Amino acid sequence: MDVSSAPDRTTIVATPKAPSAACPACGNLSTRVHSRYQRVLADLPWQGHAVALRIRARRFRCPEPACSRRIFTERLPAAAPRQRRTGRLAVIQRCIGLGMGGEPGSRLAARLAMPVSGDTLLRLIRAATLDPPPPPRIVGLDDWAWRRGRRYGTLVVDLERNRPIELLPDRQADTVAAWLKAHPGIALVARDRAGAYADGTRAGAPEAVQVADRWHLLRNLGDALQRILDRHPQDLRAAAKAAVAAPSAANETLPPPPSPARPVSPQRQAALARHAARQALFEEIAALHAQGWSQSRIAQATGLDRKTLRRWLRLGRPPTWQQPRHGSAVERHADHLRRRWDEGCRNATQLWREIQALGYAGRPGTVRDWLRRRRLRATSSAASMARWKTPSGRRAAWLVVADAEKLDATERRFAEALLAGPVALVEVIELAREFRRMVRERQPERLDGWLGAAASTALRGFADSLRRDLAAVRAALTEPWSTSPVEGQISRLKMIKRQMYGRAGFDLLRQRVLLAA
Ligand SMILES: [Zn+2]
Repeated sequence: MDVSSAPDRTTIVATPKAPSAACPACGNLSTRVHSRYQRVLADLPWQGHAVALRIRARRFRCPEPACSRRIFTERLPAAAPRQRRTGRLAVIQRCIGLGMGGEPGSRLAARLAMPVSGDTLLRLIRAATLDPPPPPRIVGLDDWAWRRGRRYGTLVVDLERNRPIELLPDRQADTVAAWLKAHPGIALVARDRAGAYADGTRAGAPEAVQVADRWHLLRNLGDALQRILDRHPQDLRAAAKAAVAAPSAANETLPPPPSPARPVSPQRQAALARHAARQALFEEIAALHAQGWSQSRIAQATGLDRKTLRRWLRLGRPPTWQQPRHGSAVERHADHLRRRWDEGCRNATQLWREIQALGYAGRPGTVRDWLRRRRLRATSSAASMARWKTPSGRRAAWLVVADAEKLDATERRFAEALLAGPVALVEVIELAREFRRMVRERQPERLDGWLGAAASTALRGFADSLRRDLAAVRAALTEPWSTSPVEGQISRLKMIKRQMYGRAGFDLLRQRVLLAA
């Protein structure tokens, strides 16, 4: 054995010493060396240096005349044939690839003196064999967006072990049925309320108990309630008017109306509209958050990504589209400008002269910009007050079922006002509240009575959908299992998918999700 050291690489030259080698085709031992060749294998680093093994490997002649192989190369314990790295290096590089993905993994590996290309890391992941997981008994199914809104896959999670065990390329009943048939012994399947998973489970595991997910049940209820409230805009308006007109709302002062001096440009109007939409979305998020929904569920329900969601909740508002630059020269005089604004001064040149006297060195245009921002803010908060008078059907659906202690005074008055409205609406709201209680407190014995009562109201369609899926709905009120853990695993999957920058195929994604579990 011979060791040579270059600044960035250590090379170990080795010669195999075994007197004979076995023919891979017939198994006979041969001692007849045909020729030698050089094999170079990357190995684990040593002293911070990349290491290469340069092996003077041999070719042997097969001693068996009838064998199809005349000549074979000797097998080396360090690496499989044709590999350019040792088995132990491949294991570690694959771990890096699983944790970090191709290119970032490649960069880390280089720093660890185990250089490897991103493509090779991905190849190592693809080539890895999956140990079959222990046979699952209780599984959860949920879908995940492979291409948002266009293509979906299914994640199967072993709920007892909280481990993803399969990634299916679509959400078709047949696919789910085939997978379940290949995994006999599954006793319970928790799933959403869409028909495909129900049909697939019925076909593939007819004996299994199906559990409709409680969160999906409540979401379906919310959707049904929203559709009903959307048909009663005049009642929503009346209730909102009553809520805002109540005496305790009187101390909420309206900001001054926007100055009529300058017409609002189309661009500014568009910006205002965008801000209003963001504000409405934020109010929905805040209402859900107050109801105790987890951030991941809110993100799922609203389609907002979780990072943005967290930022909005931390800010307590959506970010405005034009933040004043903190510490800018004009901001140093903001106290003076605000006081003058409150006194009614809207003249930019006048204000510029005043702060110039106080030491301001900027242009009048900067003061004009400041005034413009100020006006926009006043307009949008006036608009948000106006919006309170007519909450959307969707928001109203949350407000009327939310726990009273989680609402502010105006919201509570709004819910109460609706409950003093037309009987048909009151019936529906009370049924919705009862359904939520029944689901959250798991009271299966109340289900039949509820379905009977709902049959003669506008919630009839929702009740019918429950009846069509009755066993699974009842199981949701009895069984502790739900698809929530699947949702957690889907977040993980999405993170892995993002790391892969959308370049990876389904097979590679599957390997990473299941291998790194
Ligand atoms: Zn042979």
